[in-house]
Amino acid sequence: MRTRSALLIAVAAAALSLGRAGADVTVITTDTNLADIAKQVAGDRASVESLARPSDDPHHVVARPSMIVKLARADVFARIGMGLDMWADAIIDRSGNAAVQPDGKGYADCSRGLKALDVPSGKIDPSMGDLHPEGNPHYLLDPAQGILAAGNIAAALIRVDPAGQPYYHARFLQFGERVKSGLQRWSATLKGIPSRDVVPYHKTWAYFLARFGLREFGVLEPKPGVEPSPGHVSALAQAMKQVGVRVILCELFRAKRWPDLLASQSGAVAAFVPTSVGADPQADSYIAMCDTIVQRLAGAAR
Ligand SMILES: [Zn+2]
Repeated sequence: MRTRSALLIAVAAAALSLGRAGADVTVITTDTNLADIAKQVAGDRASVESLARPSDDPHHVVARPSMIVKLARADVFARIGMGLDMWADAIIDRSGNAAVQPDGKGYADCSRGLKALDVPSGKIDPSMGDLHPEGNPHYLLDPAQGILAAGNIAAALIRVDPAGQPYYHARFLQFGERVKSGLQRWSATLKGIPSRDVVPYHKTWAYFLARFGLREFGVLEPKPGVEPSPGHVSALAQAMKQVGVRVILCELFRAKRWPDLLASQSGAVAAFVPTSVGADPQADSYIAMCDTIVQRLAGAAR
C-alpha cells in the first residue's frame, strides 16, 4: 500500500512537471524593455512583470508599495543598472527577499559586460546636469545590447532554475538571431538617409547612434536632465540650418513644446518614438520597438 501511494505521488509529480503551464519562476524587471527580453528568454517557464509602466520616463519612476510586494515574491530581478533605475534600490532593500539583493542568485544587472559610453573623466558636480559616474545608462536602445541584457537574464534564470538550462540557452540563442537579422534590416534602412546628423532631446541615443554610424549634432537639453531654454533652442536651430540637420529625435513621453519650437526654427522634423515596449501600439515587443524607431527616424530624415 505504501509502495502504491509512493508510486502515485511519483506519477502525479511527473504529470505536473510535464504539463507545467510554466510560470514556476517569477521574474520582475524595472522596465518593459527588460520584461519583453526576459519573456523571450524565459518562455513558458516564467511569469514576467515590469515595475515601471511603458509610459514612464525611466529617470523618474515613482516607487509604489505594491512594487515591494511584487519583488518580495520574485525569483529573478532584472534591472538596467548604471544609476538609471536607482529608484528601485529602496524597493529591493524593503522587499526582504535575499534572492533579489545585489549578491543574490536571482539578481541580474543587465549592464554587466557593457562597454559604457559617456563615462565622465573628471569630477562630477551638479552644474554638469544629471550625469552618471558609470556612464550613459541608455544602452538598451542599441539593439545589440539587448542581446547582452538577454544573456544576463538567462544567467540568472539558470542560477534559480538549473533544470531549465537547455531551454533558456536555446531561447537566448533564438532571440540573438532575431536581433541580428533586425540589425541587418535597420542598418540597411539607416544607411539610406541623407544626413548622418541627428539632434536628440536627451542623451538617450548615444549607443543607438554609434551602432548605426549616426552623429549627435547637438542636444535639445542644454545639459542632461536640464530643461531647454529659448536661447539654447535658437542657437541650436541656427547651427542646424547651416549643416542641414533634418531630425530631432524624441522619446514619446517628452512634452512636444520644445521639440516643436526647435523644428519650427530649424526646419527639421521632430520624430517622436517609443523607447519602452508598450509605449506605442506598434512597439509591442523589443524588436518591434526597434523597427518603429528606425522607421520613424528614417521617415523624418527624408
Ligand atoms: Zn538619461
